[in-house]
Amino acid sequence: ELLLNVDVIRAEFPILARRVHGDRPLVYLDNAATSQTPQAVIDVLDDYFHRYNANIHRGLHCLADEATAAFEGSRETVRGFLNAADKREIVFTRGTTEAINLVAQSYGRAFLQPGDEILVSMMEHHSNIVPWQLLAAERGLSIKTIPVDTRGVLDLAAYAALFTPRTKLVAVTHVSNALGTVNPVDELVRVAHAHGARILVDGAQAAPHQAIDVQALGVDFYAFSSHKVYGPTGVGALYGRLELLEAMPPWQGGGEMIKLVRLDGETTFAEPPHKFEAGTPAIAEVIAFGAALRWFTRFPVDLVDEWERRLLLAATEGVKRIEGARVIGEAPGKAGVLSFVIDGVHAQDIGLLIDQFGVAIRTGHHCAQPLLHSFGLDATCRASFAIYNTLGEVETFLDALERVVKMVRG
Ligand code: PMP
Repeated sequence: ELLLNVDVIRAEFPILARRVHGDRPLVYLDNAATSQTPQAVIDVLDDYFHRYNANIHRGLHCLADEATAAFEGSRETVRGFLNAADKREIVFTRGTTEAINLVAQSYGRAFLQPGDEILVSMMEHHSNIVPWQLLAAERGLSIKTIPVDTRGVLDLAAYAALFTPRTKLVAVTHVSNALGTVNPVDELVRVAHAHGARILVDGAQAAPHQAIDVQALGVDFYAFSSHKVYGPTGVGALYGRLELLEAMPPWQGGGEMIKLVRLDGETTFAEPPHKFEAGTPAIAEVIAFGAALRWFTRFPVDLVDEWERRLLLAATEGVKRIEGARVIGEAPGKAGVLSFVIDGVHAQDIGLLIDQFGVAIRTGHHCAQPLLHSFGLDATCRASFAIYNTLGEVETFLDALERVVKMVRG
């Protein structure tokens, strides 16, 4: 019945064979922060520096051609991964954070007027809050919050009621990194568009767990990061509908993004996506990002999702058996992450002590302070799962957690 061969998949990740703190096998359950990288992707980075390291787009020599072809090949891979209609709709960025800042600084400055309103949800990562706050302060905009109920589900009735004729943009996450809630993006888009607002979706946590089709979802902008989908850090992509990208001004100036530069006349800009890619990008990492997506999409995403849900369920049941444990976020159909607190035990202590057993989880506010505060919390413990995790690792995690709780309670 198990159609993913997790042992074979694990063997592709050299880091998963590591031992930590003496001779403890590493149990890596911090995948929502960053996922590990398979050998096939490491090889792509290595091959780039061994054989064809060169600056792209401008060169006439062989290495520059090869690097440009591989870089632009990644763009096509990302286009396919998101099912965007056109490769020009894919802008490479440093990651989700930069993609959101790009939209805020370019679209936001050009198209939002003083008094306009932006809706963000209570469950956003700081990277989908702070760029809007910076823009709001500069442009005299207001930001309204879509509430979240006690299960960690967006209140859709409240969402619809927040719209006014001044609502111009909705910025919402697809999957919550702190709770695992999967938001109904199609419904959020439908309501936003019915009110004439644009919608940006933060796909950082959705990309590793489900198929994404930006055309079917109807989103205006979609952002995600390579390093959560088995690729390297420091790169990601923004999808933007072509007519929007064409209408948007550049946000950073420099090489690569121009048509003509004149000191005594008008400087003109390249077409999207190059208009938004000033300077030399992270070439090797972008190429490896494409390789990571090609590696990941070898596996049917439904099976990946099903496997991760099994791990999540086993971990959730185990945590709930611990006296005083409370799971934070119990949205139906949640994916990817298990957030919890344990009465009388600081999340920080759990994180530090469980690490001694070789188990890597995350503790803290998960860059979602408003959300945690809405639950009356400053921190949770978070275990998050990837394609290569096993039920055995979940057991090791639960055993270690029980011991840690006993140690702290004395
Ligand atoms: N949004 C969400 C939901 C995230 O989980 C993260 C990463 N923790 C980000 C945005 C930011 O991604 P990056 O740091 O790669 O820009």
